[in-house]
Amino acid sequence: MSEKKVEGYVEPTVAEDVVRTMSPNKFGMWTRCQYQFFQRYVLGLKRPPSGPIAFGKATDELSAAFFEEKKATHEDWDESLTKEFWADRWATVSKEVEDWESDDPNTMLDQGVEAAKVWRSDIGVNFQPHETKFYFELPIYDWILNGEIDTIGKPSNEEHLPVIATDTKTTKRAWRLKKVLEEDQPVAYSLALQHTPKLEARIDTFQYHVLIRKNTKTRGPEAVSQIINRPVDQEERDGFVIRLEMARTQIMDSFRSGVFLPNRKHTLCTRRFCGFWHDCEKAFGGTIPE
Ligand code: SF4
Repeated sequence: MSEKKVEGYVEPTVAEDVVRTMSPNKFGMWTRCQYQFFQRYVLGLKRPPSGPIAFGKATDELSAAFFEEKKATHEDWDESLTKEFWADRWATVSKEVEDWESDDPNTMLDQGVEAAKVWRSDIGVNFQPHETKFYFELPIYDWILNGEIDTIGKPSNEEHLPVIATDTKTTKRAWRLKKVLEEDQPVAYSLALQHTPKLEARIDTFQYHVLIRKNTKTRGPEAVSQIINRPVDQEERDGFVIRLEMARTQIMDSFRSGVFLPNRKHTLCTRRFCGFWHDCEKAFGGTIPE
């Protein structure tokens, strides 16, 4: 955060990167809910994660460490090491959760260990990483579009094709193509890769590695994986650039007016997925659903 005062702006202290850099996550939050964006990126507040967010974090850390090692050695961790790693990360990230709502940390531990096993056998061993945590910065009008691509590499059945960018997601329900097509993250990454020709990566497809955790009454924790290819074309990349530019004007307008509106209609407007629900209820009234 900068202590510099910006004339004409409602907030006396403005996070410098709010008006300089834009990442896919930040853009996603802006398009979902302006008030959430204000809390997170203008005030710079961060709330403790919910159980599902912590679960996703442990899985992301597993994916990052597994592929980092595999990039160097071309070897896969065995199943027990993979499960132990997830459990170890869960022991750390679950401590950050303050409100478990209806989740139970021990049940989620069992689910996570099962999910780690499934992730390894369905995704980890079938993918050869070439780049991990690939950071990019791309100037677009007055923004610097920045971000980090989880993993870039080749699925084992696509050795003959150029590398592809991927991201791991953890959910409770299977993803449909409609949901995947609504995501902006692949478009931003495609744009970044288009401007990084030395990687020779595919820019027309992005791959989601989705891990679905669930519990069955009779069999206990189970997990299922999905590999979903998300197409991206030039028209969508061009549209994304235009939307970024428009967002800049809207964000500056919100700064000038001091109005960052809540969006209660979004499907992620829930206590589980918005850490600012409490502030939001206080500021605007109403009740945010679980
Ligand atoms: S609770 Fe809903 S409306 Fe309020 S900040 Fe969060 S996402 Fe926005």
